[in-house]
Amino acid sequence: MTNMQKMQRTRLREDTLNALDELRQAFPLQQRIETAPQAVRAAYVRILQHCCAHPQRDAGELNVESTLVDALVRIDAVVAQSKGWGCYPFSADPTDFRVSTVDGRDRYAFCAIDALAMPRLLGRAARIVSHCAACSRTLHCDMAANGALPHQPLDQPMVVWEQPGPADTDDICCRKICPHIRFMCVGCADATQPHVLALPQATFVAHAFFAFQATKMG
Ligand SMILES: [Zn+2]
Repeated sequence: MTNMQKMQRTRLREDTLNALDELRQAFPLQQRIETAPQAVRAAYVRILQHCCAHPQRDAGELNVESTLVDALVRIDAVVAQSKGWGCYPFSADPTDFRVSTVDGRDRYAFCAIDALAMPRLLGRAARIVSHCAACSRTLHCDMAANGALPHQPLDQPMVVWEQPGPADTDDICCRKICPHIRFMCVGCADATQPHVLALPQATFVAHAFFAFQATKMG
């Protein structure tokens, strides 16, 4: 490897770890869950399993005490949506981040990073379909059940995380941060943005951010 390649790899690794770090600071989901009372943590696992199992669900089936759901809503681990309870990365309402698993089921993610986390959490190969946030072109990527990216087209989508504007005063992650983490085509992705990640880097961030869920699901 040349020195130039070594420098590029180091830079890439730093960018990826910085993005992960900033995401965890902006939305400390893992920390909030791990420091929550035991009953709240148990309710969280229940809701998460429910989201994995039932993509089209209604809140009535959940069978979790409402005070525990309320506690999870207060720490923004669970979100009230029009079609039920959302639980990151799973959105109850349809979004522009569709994750279609090989068994023919569609689930929806709150943002591009959430979508990249889902196949491994579900243990199913999936196709992620979205649109370029800039030119609206349809974009997709395939992912194996273990979260690996098998083979990507040369014009693979990028993940762009733009900083929230001053108008974004909402503290709920899916309204404040998620709308700014989107896919873009290579042609539109602006490298001057603070966080422009290629798919392998964005996938690393997604897996690391949600890894605590996988250990709870097992
Ligand atoms: Zn584009």
